[in-house]
Amino acid sequence: MAANPNIAIDGPAGSGKSTVALMVAKELGFLYVDTGAMYRAVTLKALREGIDLNDWEAVERVAASASIELIPGGNSMLRVLLNGEDVTQEIRSPEISRCVSLVARVPEVRNRLVELQRSMACRGGVVMEGRDIGTVVLPDAQVKIFLTASPGERARRRREELVKNGANVDQRQVEEEIHARDKIDTQRDTAPLKPAMDAEIIDSSTIPAEQVVKMILARVSARRQSL
Ligand code: C5P
Repeated sequence: MAANPNIAIDGPAGSGKSTVALMVAKELGFLYVDTGAMYRAVTLKALREGIDLNDWEAVERVAASASIELIPGGNSMLRVLLNGEDVTQEIRSPEISRCVSLVARVPEVRNRLVELQRSMACRGGVVMEGRDIGTVVLPDAQVKIFLTASPGERARRRREELVKNGANVDQRQVEEEIHARDKIDTQRDTAPLKPAMDAEIIDSSTIPAEQVVKMILARVSARRQSL
Protein backbone atom coordinates (compact mmCIF):
# COMPACT_ATOMS: atom_id res chain seq x y z
CA MET A 1 0.00 0.00 0.00
CA ALA A 2 1.35 3.47 -0.86
CA ALA A 3 2.37 5.64 2.11
CA ASN A 4 0.08 8.50 3.04
CA PRO A 5 0.97 11.76 1.31
CA ASN A 6 2.55 14.72 3.06
CA ILE A 7 0.77 18.05 2.78
CA ALA A 8 2.70 21.33 2.91
CA ILE A 9 0.81 24.50 3.80
CA ASP A 10 2.76 27.76 3.62
CA GLY A 11 1.77 31.39 3.81
CA PRO A 12 2.23 34.68 5.66
CA ALA A 13 1.09 35.51 9.21
CA GLY A 14 -2.67 35.53 9.65
CA SER A 15 -3.47 33.76 6.38
CA GLY A 16 -5.46 31.11 8.27
CA LYS A 17 -2.86 28.34 7.92
CA SER A 18 -3.18 26.97 11.45
CA THR A 19 -6.98 26.70 11.39
CA VAL A 20 -7.00 25.08 7.97
CA ALA A 21 -4.01 22.77 8.56
CA LEU A 22 -5.47 21.51 11.82
CA MET A 23 -8.85 20.83 10.20
CA VAL A 24 -7.25 18.99 7.25
CA ALA A 25 -5.13 16.89 9.62
CA LYS A 26 -8.17 15.99 11.71
CA GLU A 27 -10.23 15.10 8.65
CA LEU A 28 -7.53 12.78 7.29
CA GLY A 29 -6.28 11.45 10.63
CA PHE A 30 -2.81 12.85 9.82
CA LEU A 31 -0.23 14.36 12.16
CA TYR A 32 -0.39 18.15 12.35
CA VAL A 33 2.98 19.93 12.62
CA ASP A 34 3.17 23.66 13.34
CA THR A 35 6.75 24.63 12.45
CA GLY A 36 6.23 28.26 13.54
CA ALA A 37 5.80 26.96 17.09
CA MET A 38 9.33 25.56 16.92
CA TYR A 39 10.84 28.92 15.91
CA ARG A 40 8.77 30.55 18.66
CA ALA A 41 10.11 28.11 21.27
CA VAL A 42 13.73 28.89 20.33
CA THR A 43 12.88 32.60 20.51
CA LEU A 44 11.43 32.20 23.99
CA LYS A 45 14.62 30.50 25.16
CA ALA A 46 16.77 33.24 23.61
CA LEU A 47 14.74 35.99 25.30
CA ARG A 48 14.84 34.22 28.64
CA GLU A 49 18.62 33.99 28.37
CA GLY A 50 18.77 37.68 27.53
CA ILE A 51 20.96 37.26 24.47
CA ASP A 52 21.29 39.81 21.68
CA LEU A 53 19.22 38.51 18.76
CA ASN A 54 21.65 40.11 16.33
CA ASP A 55 24.42 37.90 17.69
CA TRP A 56 23.86 34.93 15.40
CA GLU A 57 26.40 32.68 17.12
CA ALA A 58 24.65 33.17 20.44
CA VAL A 59 21.27 32.46 18.80
CA GLU A 60 22.73 29.29 17.26
CA ARG A 61 23.92 28.14 20.69
CA VAL A 62 20.44 28.65 22.09
CA ALA A 63 18.92 26.55 19.28
CA ALA A 64 21.53 23.82 19.78
CA SER A 65 20.62 23.50 23.45
CA ALA A 66 16.84 23.56 22.88
CA SER A 67 14.94 20.31 22.88
CA ILE A 68 11.56 20.90 21.25
CA GLU A 69 8.66 18.46 21.23
CA LEU A 70 5.23 18.88 19.67
CA ILE A 71 2.61 16.78 21.41
CA PRO A 72 -0.74 16.30 19.65
CA GLY A 73 -3.42 17.52 22.08
CA GLY A 74 -6.68 15.91 20.96
CA ASN A 75 -9.05 18.50 19.54
CA SER A 76 -6.99 21.52 20.47
CA MET A 77 -3.72 22.87 19.10
CA LEU A 78 -0.46 21.09 19.72
CA ARG A 79 1.23 21.27 23.10
CA VAL A 80 4.74 22.61 22.75
CA LEU A 81 7.46 21.44 25.12
CA LEU A 82 10.76 23.28 25.46
CA ASN A 83 13.31 21.15 27.33
CA GLY A 84 10.35 19.36 28.89
CA GLU A 85 8.48 22.51 29.98
CA ASP A 86 5.02 23.24 28.52
CA VAL A 87 5.36 26.63 26.77
CA THR A 88 2.24 26.34 24.57
CA GLN A 89 0.73 29.61 25.83
CA GLU A 90 3.91 31.56 26.41
CA ILE A 91 5.16 31.27 22.82
CA ARG A 92 2.05 33.13 21.58
CA SER A 93 2.90 36.35 23.43
CA PRO A 94 3.20 39.62 21.45
CA GLU A 95 6.86 39.85 22.48
CA ILE A 96 7.67 36.48 20.89
CA SER A 97 5.73 37.47 17.76
CA ARG A 98 7.79 40.64 17.53
CA CYS A 99 11.12 38.83 17.85
CA VAL A 100 10.62 35.43 16.19
CA SER A 101 11.54 36.52 12.64
CA LEU A 102 14.93 37.71 13.87
CA VAL A 103 15.66 34.23 15.22
CA ALA A 104 14.19 32.46 12.17
CA ARG A 105 16.58 34.24 9.77
CA VAL A 106 19.64 32.53 11.29
CA PRO A 107 20.70 29.70 8.92
CA GLU A 108 21.99 27.33 11.63
CA VAL A 109 18.74 27.66 13.58
CA ARG A 110 16.85 26.74 10.43
CA ASN A 111 19.13 23.77 9.66
CA ARG A 112 18.50 22.34 13.07
CA LEU A 113 14.73 22.76 12.98
CA VAL A 114 14.40 21.60 9.36
CA GLU A 115 16.14 18.36 10.31
CA LEU A 116 13.63 17.82 13.10
CA GLN A 117 10.71 18.68 10.79
CA ARG A 118 11.87 16.24 8.12
CA SER A 119 12.21 13.46 10.65
CA MET A 120 8.58 14.03 11.68
CA ALA A 121 7.43 13.66 8.07
CA CYS A 122 9.61 10.75 7.00
CA ARG A 123 6.77 8.21 7.10
CA GLY A 124 4.19 10.39 5.34
CA GLY A 125 0.76 11.31 6.67
CA VAL A 126 1.76 14.76 7.91
CA VAL A 127 0.13 18.17 7.45
CA MET A 128 2.96 20.62 8.01
CA GLU A 129 2.48 24.38 8.08
CA GLY A 130 5.10 27.12 7.91
CA ARG A 131 6.90 29.42 5.50
CA ASP A 132 9.33 27.13 3.65
CA ILE A 133 7.67 23.71 3.82
CA GLY A 134 6.93 23.35 0.09
CA THR A 135 10.19 24.98 -0.99
CA VAL A 136 12.79 23.61 1.45
CA VAL A 137 11.57 21.27 4.17
CA LEU A 138 9.46 18.90 2.08
CA PRO A 139 10.13 19.71 -1.59
CA ASP A 140 8.65 16.28 -2.48
CA ALA A 141 5.38 16.82 -0.60
CA GLN A 142 2.56 15.42 -2.72
CA VAL A 143 0.27 18.39 -2.05
CA LYS A 144 1.53 21.96 -1.66
CA ILE A 145 -0.69 24.87 -0.75
CA PHE A 146 0.25 28.53 -0.43
CA LEU A 147 -2.44 30.24 1.58
CA THR A 148 -2.77 33.98 1.49
CA ALA A 149 -5.27 36.74 2.32
CA SER A 150 -5.41 40.53 2.07
CA PRO A 151 -3.30 42.43 4.65
CA GLY A 152 -6.42 43.89 6.33
CA GLU A 153 -8.06 40.48 6.68
CA ARG A 154 -4.86 38.90 7.99
CA ALA A 155 -4.51 41.60 10.65
CA ARG A 156 -8.17 41.19 11.62
CA ARG A 157 -7.77 37.43 12.08
CA ARG A 158 -4.54 37.78 13.99
CA ARG A 159 -6.06 40.36 16.34
CA GLU A 160 -9.06 38.13 16.95
CA GLU A 161 -6.70 35.30 17.94
CA LEU A 162 -4.70 37.58 20.27
CA VAL A 163 -7.82 38.98 21.95
CA LYS A 164 -9.09 35.42 22.45
CA ASN A 165 -5.82 34.68 24.26
CA GLY A 166 -6.35 37.68 26.53
CA ALA A 167 -4.01 40.22 24.85
CA ASN A 168 -5.08 43.85 24.61
CA VAL A 169 -3.94 45.09 21.18
CA ASP A 170 -5.41 47.43 18.61
CA GLN A 171 -5.74 46.73 14.92
CA ARG A 172 -2.98 49.13 13.90
CA GLN A 173 -0.45 47.54 16.24
CA VAL A 174 -1.27 44.13 14.76
CA GLU A 175 -0.99 45.43 11.19
CA GLU A 176 2.45 46.84 11.97
CA GLU A 177 3.59 43.61 13.62
CA ILE A 178 2.60 41.34 10.76
CA HIS A 179 3.93 43.76 8.16
CA ALA A 180 7.33 43.85 9.91
CA ARG A 181 7.36 40.06 10.27
CA ASP A 182 6.37 39.41 6.63
CA LYS A 183 9.09 41.79 5.48
CA ILE A 184 11.85 39.92 7.32
CA ASP A 185 10.38 36.52 6.39
CA THR A 186 10.19 37.33 2.65
CA GLN A 187 13.50 39.16 2.41
CA ARG A 188 15.83 36.87 4.37
CA ASP A 189 18.57 35.05 2.44
CA THR A 190 17.83 31.55 3.75
CA ALA A 191 14.50 29.90 2.89
CA PRO A 192 12.46 33.09 2.39
CA LEU A 193 8.67 32.95 2.43
CA LYS A 194 7.49 32.29 -1.13
CA PRO A 195 5.21 29.83 -2.91
CA ALA A 196 6.83 26.67 -4.28
CA MET A 197 6.71 26.51 -8.09
CA ASP A 198 4.21 23.64 -7.88
CA ALA A 199 2.06 25.04 -5.06
CA GLU A 200 -1.61 25.83 -5.45
CA ILE A 201 -2.15 29.42 -4.34
CA ILE A 202 -5.39 30.00 -2.43
CA ASP A 203 -6.53 33.49 -1.47
CA SER A 204 -8.69 32.95 1.59
CA SER A 205 -9.71 36.61 2.10
CA THR A 206 -13.35 35.89 1.33
CA ILE A 207 -13.50 32.11 1.57
CA PRO A 208 -14.49 30.45 4.86
CA ALA A 209 -11.97 28.01 6.34
CA GLU A 210 -14.34 25.05 5.76
CA GLN A 211 -14.30 25.73 2.04
CA VAL A 212 -10.53 26.04 1.90
CA VAL A 213 -10.35 22.68 3.69
CA LYS A 214 -12.65 21.15 1.05
CA MET A 215 -10.43 22.49 -1.73
CA ILE A 216 -7.35 20.95 -0.11
CA LEU A 217 -9.07 17.61 0.51
CA ALA A 218 -10.13 17.50 -3.15
CA ARG A 219 -6.55 18.08 -4.16
CA VAL A 220 -5.35 15.31 -1.83
CA SER A 221 -7.79 12.78 -3.23
CA ALA A 222 -6.90 13.73 -6.82
CA ARG A 223 -3.22 13.19 -6.00
CA ARG A 224 -3.96 9.86 -4.34
CA GLN A 225 -5.82 8.65 -7.42
CA SER A 226 -2.97 9.66 -9.70
CA LEU A 227 -0.34 7.77 -7.65
O1 C5P B 1 3.48 30.47 11.92
P1 C5P B 1 3.89 31.51 12.93
O2 C5P B 1 3.29 32.85 12.66
O3 C5P B 1 3.71 31.06 14.34
O4 C5P B 1 5.46 31.64 12.70
C1 C5P B 1 6.24 32.50 13.48
C2 C5P B 1 7.50 32.89 12.72
O5 C5P B 1 8.37 31.76 12.62
C3 C5P B 1 7.33 33.40 11.31
O6 C5P B 1 7.01 34.77 11.25
C4 C5P B 1 8.70 33.11 10.71
O7 C5P B 1 9.64 34.11 11.06
C5 C5P B 1 9.12 31.84 11.42
N1 C5P B 1 8.88 30.65 10.61
C6 C5P B 1 9.79 30.34 9.63
N2 C5P B 1 9.68 29.18 8.92
C7 C5P B 1 8.68 28.34 9.16
C8 C5P B 1 7.71 28.64 10.14
C9 C5P B 1 7.82 29.83 10.83
O8 C5P B 1 10.72 31.11 9.38
N3 C5P B 1 8.61 27.19 8.48
